[in-house]
Amino acid sequence: MKIIHSATYDLHNREDHVENRGRTRAIIDAIGASDLEVEFMEPRIAGIHEIQMVHSSRHVEYLEVFSGSGGGWLDYDTYMTPDTFNVARLAAGGAMVAAEESLNGGWSYSVARPPGHHACYDRSMGFCIFNNLAVAIEHCRQNHGVSGFLVLDFDVHHGNGTSSIFYHDPEVMYISIHQDPRTLFPGTGFVAETGEGAGEGFNLNIPVPPGSGNDEYIWILGEILPEVIRKIRPLMIFVSAGFDAHRSDPLASVEVDELFFSWIGWFLHRTGAPGAVVLEGGYDPVALGKSNVSFLRALEGEEPEGYSPDPQGVHEIFRELQDTFSPFFSF
Ligand SMILES: [Zn+2]
Repeated sequence: MKIIHSATYDLHNREDHVENRGRTRAIIDAIGASDLEVEFMEPRIAGIHEIQMVHSSRHVEYLEVFSGSGGGWLDYDTYMTPDTFNVARLAAGGAMVAAEESLNGGWSYSVARPPGHHACYDRSMGFCIFNNLAVAIEHCRQNHGVSGFLVLDFDVHHGNGTSSIFYHDPEVMYISIHQDPRTLFPGTGFVAETGEGAGEGFNLNIPVPPGSGNDEYIWILGEILPEVIRKIRPLMIFVSAGFDAHRSDPLASVEVDELFFSWIGWFLHRTGAPGAVVLEGGYDPVALGKSNVSFLRALEGEEPEGYSPDPQGVHEIFRELQDTFSPFFSF
């Protein structure tokens, strides 16, 4: 397992903000204290033209000037420091390196900050500056000739940035499981958002009620993912790995624990596809460390204990998904 990480990410930091350098430090420390066999690699800084594969030149220029003149708040919860512009380029470059490594086989993981899945074509939001994962996908498509991607986003928030960037794109199947958007930021990610034009059917949202846990997550993903993968046969899998669905996380009300992260790691391992994981959210340092180690162990092939989920709260949403996606998938 290749871990792409740099201490330079720490330069994007506010101690009074939940999205701070303690997050990645907790993950790297937990990996170091585990018996996982990993190889650390440095990210590279993404070129401006590479960032512009998924963001408008005007927006990128605005961010460079904003950060260069001291930084501050882009909106009520998204900050930049004087270093952020270049750190965010490094985070995008980390995702690109992870993608390149995964093209050589196996899984790789970009443990980077700031996160990316809320970053849209011409707007940064939700702690995210650039959409790291989207930059990496475009890099694979434009520079390595790969087409046919699956993105699985299990951060507790809907990845509105990634979803919107690929909303018309039939080569990128985006699947997100997240807390019901009526109850959580960013307020998008409903079942009816299925993609548009040629991208219709390639955007699949699974909004789960607050209070859902391992049973609901494992059951509904177990119903949907195998069929989607069978049908679209992705050449490459990207994972937006947010760990804020954990019951200890302060930002949301979904209550999974390490069991879910093991399960999804094992599921991804068994697909046999090359894949790159990109860190998104997760705001409880202890839970972040434990969840990451559980996830990575299973992703590397350590089979978790058998588990039979007994879901209570997601049968209705599953029926809605079956109806909505019946032209495309028969899960
Ligand atoms: Zn999140």
